[in-house]
Amino acid sequence: MVYDVVILGSGPAGLTAAIYTSRARLKTLVVAGTMWGGQLMFTQEVENFPGFEKGILGPKLMDEMRKQAERFGAELIFETATSADFKSKPFKVTAGNKVYKGKSVIIATGSSAKWLGLESEERLRGRGVSVCATCDAPFFRNKRVVVVGGGDTAMEEALVLSKFASEVKIIHRRDKLRASKYLQEKAFENPKITFVWNSTVQEILGKDRVAGVRLKRVDSDEESNLSCDAVFIAIGYKPNTEIFEGQVELDQRGYIVAREATRTSIDGVFVAGNVEDYRYRQAVAAAGAGCKAALDAKKYLIGT
Ligand code: NAP
Repeated sequence: MVYDVVILGSGPAGLTAAIYTSRARLKTLVVAGTMWGGQLMFTQEVENFPGFEKGILGPKLMDEMRKQAERFGAELIFETATSADFKSKPFKVTAGNKVYKGKSVIIATGSSAKWLGLESEERLRGRGVSVCATCDAPFFRNKRVVVVGGGDTAMEEALVLSKFASEVKIIHRRDKLRASKYLQEKAFENPKITFVWNSTVQEILGKDRVAGVRLKRVDSDEESNLSCDAVFIAIGYKPNTEIFEGQVELDQRGYIVAREATRTSIDGVFVAGNVEDYRYRQAVAAAGAGCKAALDAKKYLIGT
């Protein structure tokens, strides 16, 4: 069987694309991943997705999108794509040891959290080192935690953690935050949150569990240890494009290059969401891009 559209990814971009293609009566397969739904599945309240005056929980929003796509006939498989072959048509995608064929493909695989790259971080992952406060904050009730980063993600992680931890220290490598004014203000006014400026984490301390961090001042190279029970890394994201290397054009950082809206370097392969968009990275922007990719795929397939 050859699908009209194979969509890789099931975040806001992938599921919006699926709503549009399946509603347009295109035979649609969504390779949703073993952990479907994308980053909003690890978010709590989403306050800026239009249409929800009082906000909506991230997983609830994704569940609604999934049901909406399924209502129009989109088929979802809960496997992760392990390879892609765009060299000949129909395009082929392998997931869960099966090969799926599509006349067109929409890549919406999103991005994943970046790590610092320390040996100690790797060793203590799941033992106090995390990239998801929403998932792991309840483990650190009345504990001292550290968040690394100065962007919106770091502020959000710190705010989530402040509901559980006794104190939250944000470690940032500069003396100015990158985060939006709104989240900065929320963090500054939270009595549990304090900042360690101009500092980087050199090592995460602890044998079997996190016991602290070794910090280095960027201005003086002075080192110091800070005791804590958990370290949340919140330093941004990298695109999930490993399986597309050599198949479709990527930029230097590994993001898929979009030419003319959602077209990629391969005719018939389209892209949407955070796997291409390193600027806006918002659920609503990803959903909008998913809509555009679906319309572009439809035009490619049936000319209108
Ligand atoms: P980001 O804006 O790229 O910020 C990453 C932060 O981590 C920066 O402060 C950066 O420092 C720091 N950093 C990067 N690499 C580092 C390293 N190796 N060691 C130490 N620090 C490092 O990433 P983000 O916070 O994940 O946000 C990404 C996008 O998603 C943004 O557009 C953001 O607005 C959006 N977002 C929005 C919301 C919301 O609206 N509710 C929530 C989350 C994310 P420098 O500042 O020195 O570069």
